[in-house]
Amino acid sequence: MWRSVESACPVPSAGSHYVTISLTNPVKYLRGVGPHRAAALEERGIATVGDLLGYLPFRYEDRIRFTRIAEIVPGQTHTILAEVTSGGGSTVRFARGRNAVFHVAVRDGSGMLHARFFHGGYLQGRLKEGQRLVLHGKADRDPYRPARLEMVNPQIEMLGGSDGTAADSTEVGRIVPIYEAMGGISSRMLRRIIYGVLVNFEGNVPDPLPSELLDRYHFPTRREALLYAHFPPKDESIELLNAFRSSAQMRLIFEEFFYYQLALALRRLRDHRTRGIPLRVREGKVRDALKRILPFKPTAAQKRVLAEIAADLERPYPMHRLLEGDVGSGKTIVAFEAATIAIENDCQVALMAPTEILAAQHYLSAQRVFKPAGYAVELIVSGRKRAERAQALERIASGAAQFVVGTHALIEDPVAFKRLGLAIVDEQHRFGVLQRKRLMEKGASPHVLVMTATPIPRTLALTLYGDLDLSVIDEMPPGRTPIDTRWTSEDKLPAVWEFLRREVVRGRQGYVLYPVIEESKQELKAATLEYERLATKVFLNLRVGLLHGRLKNEEKDSVMERFRDNEIQILVATTVIEVGVDVPNATVMVIEHADRFGLAQLHQLRGRIGRGTEKSHCILIAPKSIAGEARGRIEAMVATSNGFEIAEYDLKQRGPGEFFGTRQHGDAAFSVAQPLRDREILELARREAFALAEDPAKANEVVARLESLSPAWRMRYQLAMVG
Ligand code: ADP
Ligand code: MG
Repeated sequence: MWRSVESACPVPSAGSHYVTISLTNPVKYLRGVGPHRAAALEERGIATVGDLLGYLPFRYEDRIRFTRIAEIVPGQTHTILAEVTSGGGSTVRFARGRNAVFHVAVRDGSGMLHARFFHGGYLQGRLKEGQRLVLHGKADRDPYRPARLEMVNPQIEMLGGSDGTAADSTEVGRIVPIYEAMGGISSRMLRRIIYGVLVNFEGNVPDPLPSELLDRYHFPTRREALLYAHFPPKDESIELLNAFRSSAQMRLIFEEFFYYQLALALRRLRDHRTRGIPLRVREGKVRDALKRILPFKPTAAQKRVLAEIAADLERPYPMHRLLEGDVGSGKTIVAFEAATIAIENDCQVALMAPTEILAAQHYLSAQRVFKPAGYAVELIVSGRKRAERAQALERIASGAAQFVVGTHALIEDPVAFKRLGLAIVDEQHRFGVLQRKRLMEKGASPHVLVMTATPIPRTLALTLYGDLDLSVIDEMPPGRTPIDTRWTSEDKLPAVWEFLRREVVRGRQGYVLYPVIEESKQELKAATLEYERLATKVFLNLRVGLLHGRLKNEEKDSVMERFRDNEIQILVATTVIEVGVDVPNATVMVIEHADRFGLAQLHQLRGRIGRGTEKSHCILIAPKSIAGEARGRIEAMVATSNGFEIAEYDLKQRGPGEFFGTRQHGDAAFSVAQPLRDREILELARREAFALAEDPAKANEVVARLESLSPAWRMRYQLAMVG
């Protein structure tokens, strides 16, 4: 499958005016790179030739076999080579404001094609008659003039120098790499700079991958892979390249995953050598506690994950476990169970939640659970009265408080524990890695349980949290009826309110969600204003409440308490209720401007209902005319309430970085690799890395070789070790 690269890649040619270049050369001295471009490159972390070669093309164009205009198939993507015509005339038409639309006609001897560029004002004056250019994009018939073929916003590259010199060999007659432009450096410019480097490249590229791995997977060396990935040979398959499945690309993807996973594996070994607090789990006692606490029978999944956690807690090194379960799957009770074990072993437990509302709710539930057993529960949020806070801190420091719930206020300096045995992070995706770490540092190697309702596909969980063991609650508590989700436009609101009123009259409760608190320029309905209207005009004889992030803590607490007690029947709110809030009697969720919310967010919001046995209804208000991603999100919501399916969809749309909201260390770790696209390679790399870590001496030797790579690599590796 692997072919030598020498046939196609630039090879240093004797006699050409070249200076030898090596990996450590600073980019600022390269030909074609002045101070401006050097600054733009450095901004992107590209300081040396080694860094530059790590900047791979994101796409390849076949410029050996251009499509002739006469052979274009409407609706398909083509690359064509043509020149600007005289007759067609290039014009700029100005729409409103600065939105210039640039029109140009081109021909290639077989036919004529029109191109339109929105925001194309910059092209004016640059596309002179006879200018040769490459267009890449989808060709279609002009909707108004079906005889005419056009491309709208194609990728454009002008060939040759501005003085009319011919196109060079980096632009046509080969498979051409397309780079993502950066800070004023066009794709074409990057290509020229990189080509210039490769032509004058003086051989040696250290290869830190163990040679067994190269052999086993028939991977090319690092040097070969880099040359090939930038300038592939003519006969490579363009489809394979664009799928990132040529051997060269696969090797480069593999190595990124491999080092990351190796760091995780070594870190896990280090963790296992750390002395923890082995807890004794007395079978009967836990089971008794379980019975005392639960008004219901735990599901099989809850029992299983609790057993996994209990087994971890008994070990002499600290537990690091991720508990994953869809919204409403019952993670809280599992966390309380784990807490019970710790408390019975004279340890303290900390539970950190991302919002004050959720922290307050956990505090109330924890009191119900632990108080009867004689244990004290404490709440730490910001904005409490000084004296109260001081007393709470004192009770935590002295060990008088066993279970401590809080927001990020928990990880502030003054909070000190006497003996923290278990640190729990709820809705972990809302926190950064460092926050998790700071909570852990409140004790001497406490056990750590992080929980998330973001249903991450297993492989991705491995990349992002590869150092954590994974437990999954894959079953909902019994008796839940599926949530009915509908998409309705705003003009149907009167009927929606009527429906909500009927549900409330039957004894149920509902949420009405708005994207903003107060009126803004964006012309979005605001919670405060709509609350006034709904309370005084629409739901006259019903009890309506308002909840948003800018209320004082006491107000939030009192609103939530009244909603929990059904004193408030309809709660008008913003996304402050997005995570965790648990009021099983609430069965209706109306979300206005639903197209303004992310998919993960919509799913979380919907998770506030469907928590009891009554049928629940989620009504998404958005124009029927919406298109693109927003439409896709709403359609996905209507199609499924399964969190894993939603997650898969969202990941495909937006990539992991966006999906997880808070950027995770896993993101920053890769430049070529994409965990979702490259799952199989990830699994492979993980297996190999963990196998290598079994032999620490050898593993450390491989890590030492990383030093030979660029600082960027070292930094990524360190990130993985710290995270
Ligand atoms: P999440 O996983 O989203 O944090 P919660 O822990 O808030 O979910 O639980 C959701 C709801 O389901 C709560 O009202 C909880 O009391 C209830 N619940 C949890 N486990 C069970 C069970 N085994 N049987 C019945 N209801 C349960
Ligand atoms: Mg929860």
